[in-house]
Amino acid sequence: MTYQQLKAEESKYVMNTYGRFPIALDHGEGATLWDVEGKKYIDLAAGIGVNCLGYNNPAIIDAMTAQAHKLMHVSNLFTTEPMVQVAKKLVEKTHLNGKVFFANSGAEANEGAIKLARKYSFDKYGEGRYKIVTLVNSFHGRTVTTLKATGQERFHNYFFPFTEGFDYAAANDFDSVRRKADEMTCAIMMELIQGEGGVLPLDPAFVKQVEAYCRERDILLIIDEVQTGIGRTGSLFCFQQYGIRPDVVTMAKGLGGGVPVGAVLAAENCANVLTPGTHATTFGGTPIVCAAANAVLDIVGDSRFLAEVTEKGEYLKNGILSIGSPHIHGVRGMGLMLGIIVDDGKHTAYANKLIEKGVLAITAGKNAVRLLPPLTISKEEMDEALTIMKEVF
Ligand SMILES: *Cc1c(COP(=O)(O)O)cnc(C)c1O
Repeated sequence: MTYQQLKAEESKYVMNTYGRFPIALDHGEGATLWDVEGKKYIDLAAGIGVNCLGYNNPAIIDAMTAQAHKLMHVSNLFTTEPMVQVAKKLVEKTHLNGKVFFANSGAEANEGAIKLARKYSFDKYGEGRYKIVTLVNSFHGRTVTTLKATGQERFHNYFFPFTEGFDYAAANDFDSVRRKADEMTCAIMMELIQGEGGVLPLDPAFVKQVEAYCRERDILLIIDEVQTGIGRTGSLFCFQQYGIRPDVVTMAKGLGGGVPVGAVLAAENCANVLTPGTHATTFGGTPIVCAAANAVLDIVGDSRFLAEVTEKGEYLKNGILSIGSPHIHGVRGMGLMLGIIVDDGKHTAYANKLIEKGVLAITAGKNAVRLLPPLTISKEEMDEALTIMKEVF
């Protein structure tokens, strides 16, 4: 089917919840995609930071194919090896001495972390210590609870009543955190680089202060690594570069390299809070997605691979800056999570123009063209994208 035919049927049968870019994608190889009409694109979006190993990656395909022949799903009523392996890798590579709960998305991982934090506090201090402080401009998901955890007013509409017990502190303002995180607070949850909010990295000194404050008051520090995790910023998790020790880390996007999987990783001090009957999911940690996650972690968890992510990030960033366009006001971010800062409100127009010319890019906040390419992107692909970016900017 052509794009026009597909779009007509989509409008008829699929709920109109997305302002989709006007192309229909068909297949990919590496960091290159082709649409249904055969037009080629360099992909700097990776399915919103999901396809960390690019398209048609044999490691993921072989692992999933082998697992599909053996066992795809049996539910969490039984033990399966792929899940145990993924959990072990996550625990060992983060040195958090903790345990993992598997979910199916970022929002679900955050829901799990929120439940864990509230129960941790309930078990230790009884009722009333339920508040979770997040940051203004954050993004934590689309469920009724994680929408409320998201520190942006525009998300708190239509679906009333939202889950109670969330409050918002200003990012990089420790006094604001101290004012909001009171004796009723059980957790502070934040992204180290606000992704949807505009690719805004937190100030390391602020993050350290928040960590110390959490320790002092037995408040759990939840780091939402749904976007920053799995090698995206040049370390397996971004918190490792900030030199902090979170109590809970949530992840999703890149973890399955293209299949839906999320996880909550709780450190030693709170690894046993969730007990039988307190949290569950039918699909979480199912063998077919864990086969993919194992392949991803074996590749992305390697220090040479991570060093390359950092190098590629620098290369892309410098390439963009050297365009020297008056319309580019800077590049924010770490590793291969970058935001090109353009005039306020112009980011969508630039993303559209880039896509028209053959580069897939997305947007964030009010002025960022966001780049989250496959971590495996080649120098040739980056050069091709830079040539097109030069033309567009
Ligand atoms: C994408 C994202 C989420 C939500 O993940 P879903 O898989 O869409 O539910 C949560 N937190 C952050 C930081 C994200 O980037």
